[in-house]
Amino acid sequence: MRYHAIERTSPKGPGQPFIGTCWQCGMTGLKASDALKECENPANLTQDESVLRAIDPSAPKGNGEGK
Ligand SMILES: [Zn+2]
Repeated sequence: MRYHAIERTSPKGPGQPFIGTCWQCGMTGLKASDALKECENPANLTQDESVLRAIDPSAPKGNGEGK
């Protein structure tokens, strides 16, 4: 089992909530607490593949959203 690898996408600053995207499974809108939740990484991507997928909006998203 592995945890979400969340990269922060929200603005930093006092009172700003942590919102980020997991580069492993591509899930968006994750909070800091989600960093302790299991990442399904449905495509079993390597880090390089996941980064490419995270920055390419045309890439298909994982099916782990909404859980
Ligand atoms: Zn994840």
